[in-house]
Amino acid sequence: MIVVMKADATEEQLDAVKRRIVEEGLRPSVVEGAERNIVGVLGTITRDHESAFEGMSGVLQILRVSRPYKLASREFHPDDTVVEVGGVKIGGGDLAVMAGPCSVESQEQVLNTARAVKAAGGNILRGGAFKPRTSPYSFRGLGVEGLKYLAKARDETGLPVITEVMTIEDLPAVSEFADIVQIGARNMQNFNLLDAAGAQSRPVMLKRGLSSTIEEWLLAAEYILNQGNPNVILCERGVRTFETATRNTLDISAVPVVQKLSHLPIVCDPSHGTGKWYLVPAMAAASVAAGADGLMVEVHPDPDHAKSDGGQSLTFENFALLMERVRALANVAAGTVPAGNSQFGE
Ligand code: PEP
Ligand code: MN
Repeated sequence: MIVVMKADATEEQLDAVKRRIVEEGLRPSVVEGAERNIVGVLGTITRDHESAFEGMSGVLQILRVSRPYKLASREFHPDDTVVEVGGVKIGGGDLAVMAGPCSVESQEQVLNTARAVKAAGGNILRGGAFKPRTSPYSFRGLGVEGLKYLAKARDETGLPVITEVMTIEDLPAVSEFADIVQIGARNMQNFNLLDAAGAQSRPVMLKRGLSSTIEEWLLAAEYILNQGNPNVILCERGVRTFETATRNTLDISAVPVVQKLSHLPIVCDPSHGTGKWYLVPAMAAASVAAGADGLMVEVHPDPDHAKSDGGQSLTFENFALLMERVRALANVAAGTVPAGNSQFGE
């Protein structure tokens, strides 16, 4: 349920509504709008609640939230969420480009990649220190040592860092070193990890599960939001389909679908989405054209010798070319058409 306050409602009237919500054993979530405030109500709502709040002074109307997720829904929070890290904005019209190696392999590798990413115009450094691998015999990351290499690359280049956390036990270390904590596709429904990520203060990027519906994905985001962390970024990284020409099928339509249903920023990962480096630039461009708030792209100094995902990693040269293409597209979008999809009416 959403309590929409009148434009001229007073602070006291808003406080009275919030108090009543708490008295009823429910939880208020106030969103301050430019025109009026709205109060999202979390908990088990009855018809009696609806009529009780409708009659309170300062209240314009009561709306039912039709979606199973509440805090993640646009109904609850009409304005776009903009997550800001180290001066980079994710959401609200800017394009954030997160790039770097699949796995952190050495200090030199991550530093050189960070420099190349920055020179080409990327604005966030990615790199996995804790790696989820299909086979237990594959390289599983450098762990905390890898986090330190990332932090050094940030110190030198100024690029904020995003890196994956796989377990609750590793979360304190990951959130100490990272600017954004990534939850990978395989952990999208690790509900205890989602709770823990919601209880720490770093922004969280939640990748879409391998076979997850958008509703399941938004409900997973709800876990993080429900613990009090409002800075959640969604990442479409392809879903599993019958198609074998690509590693996954990048669901570009998830961008406008998510933007309609949710206020959270959405980033696309064409590297994991395709599995093939030569498909990455086209799908990056498609993502930007579809209104994505950002990209995540794998870049490696020597993809042929990468310890993971070399086949989908771009060389520095190809990443620079991708950035030129993406920048040109983003400029067109910014100059002629408002970014995102919110400008289209019903
Ligand atoms: C990654 O980004 O390093 C990764 C493992 O991606 P995903 O969780 O999407 O497979
Ligand atoms: Mn990878």
